[in-house]
Amino acid sequence: MPDNDLAKAEMKDIANLSKRRGFVFQSSEIYGGIGSVWDYGPLGVELKNNVKREWWKRMVYRRGDVEGLDSAILMNPEVWKASGHVSSFADMLVDCKDCKRRFRIDHLKEPKCPECGGALTDPRSFNLMFKTQVGTVEGQGIDVYLRPETAQGIFVNFANVVVSSRKKLPFGIAQIGKSFRNEITTGNFTFRSREFEQMELEFFVKPGEDEKWYEYWLAERMDWYLSLGIRKEKLRLREHASDELAHYAKSCHDVEYLFPMGWSELEGIANRADFDLNQHAKLAENGQVLKYFDDSIGESYFPYVIEPSGGVDRAVLAFLIDAYRKEVVRERERVYLALDPRLAPIKVAVLPLLKNRPEIVEMSGKILEGLKAKAMYRAVYDDTAAIGKLYRRQDEIGTPLCVTVDVESLTDGKVTVRDRDTMVQERVDASSLEAIVEAKIGY
Ligand code: ATP
Repeated sequence: MPDNDLAKAEMKDIANLSKRRGFVFQSSEIYGGIGSVWDYGPLGVELKNNVKREWWKRMVYRRGDVEGLDSAILMNPEVWKASGHVSSFADMLVDCKDCKRRFRIDHLKEPKCPECGGALTDPRSFNLMFKTQVGTVEGQGIDVYLRPETAQGIFVNFANVVVSSRKKLPFGIAQIGKSFRNEITTGNFTFRSREFEQMELEFFVKPGEDEKWYEYWLAERMDWYLSLGIRKEKLRLREHASDELAHYAKSCHDVEYLFPMGWSELEGIANRADFDLNQHAKLAENGQVLKYFDDSIGESYFPYVIEPSGGVDRAVLAFLIDAYRKEVVRERERVYLALDPRLAPIKVAVLPLLKNRPEIVEMSGKILEGLKAKAMYRAVYDDTAAIGKLYRRQDEIGTPLCVTVDVESLTDGKVTVRDRDTMVQERVDASSLEAIVEAKIGY
């Protein structure tokens, strides 16, 4: 465990930066907020979209064996009976009799309050699903749930995808979307939210080939985080002990990141065997369509499923924490986000060196228009401070490249490109900027 004071300061740094620069705001803040629900601001939405896009590129576009899906948040409530969520999607909770704080029993190391050492109540079970009603007359509709995971939307559509896209095993279905859990123990900024997004893949394989694919997905998912810049020593795989396994899982590993509060789950990778398809086949009127006909052996069976299930918000938080850097440059502190350029919210900032020279402002404007023309990424213009301050502003939000236009640019057509990480400045032809930016961000 890292030193606690330092840990708190780190999460506080990230939360402060997030609020001040527009990554994350508390939901309905002007009303005093609502517990563990967050809004993503102008920079946060870019970072989050970039994380989702990189996941989608890797999981769908770079492969031929995965199809995408966008299923609804509301589903027939029978789905959640079949999945086990109605009967067992619950946390066992205890309250401290002295300080009244509430804890998940699986988070406690000892049978006493971790805050004040007080005695605890007997554990009680608390279902995490949010319930609402479908129907126009209050009290007369049917009870439905806000989905607590996106995975079930994939399972119930298994046959639709097989038929419509003529897929053969092994193949996967990927989905990114909102999930909701009425979490009891919250805190640690966005780490445990009540409304959050998941990026889930259900990868369907022949029974017997599941272990091989399980190993494959463990390595593949670790590599995704590492390839986007997460430091190796801050990432690990942790295998679930047999008494920790969920009711559906044959085996499970968590991808964990060393957050300021300690090693915590970023993503769960589970071998779900044929639990889900089997359950829906038992409960749904039309459930038998979920059996897969394998024409290579002339038999039908329920495929096994390997599921890498990650949280978008937790990935965003880990990328932010991991990228956060403080250093002293020429006796001044510099804070910057060393985000992978693919994730950076703003890719390039155009900064005029002298804003009182109309020709420089005009040339800067033209350069910006050129960079924005394909509308592929965020490029911005800023002339509201001196150049040193403008650089610091962009460093702090992780902008990989800054372009400055000066008096000489007017005659030689060249501009200065400054790299966020090395702070090296290079003189280049203004006409080559688009190519330089695209090469840097890998588009
Ligand atoms: P935890 O033990 O931390 O509650 P979990 O094991 O219940 O998580 P899963 O059901 O495996 O989580 O969900 C898959 C992923 O969805 C998690 O790895 C996490 O990234 C994300 N996730 C789950 N619950 C939340 C939440 N309340 N807030 C943000 N992300 C979440």
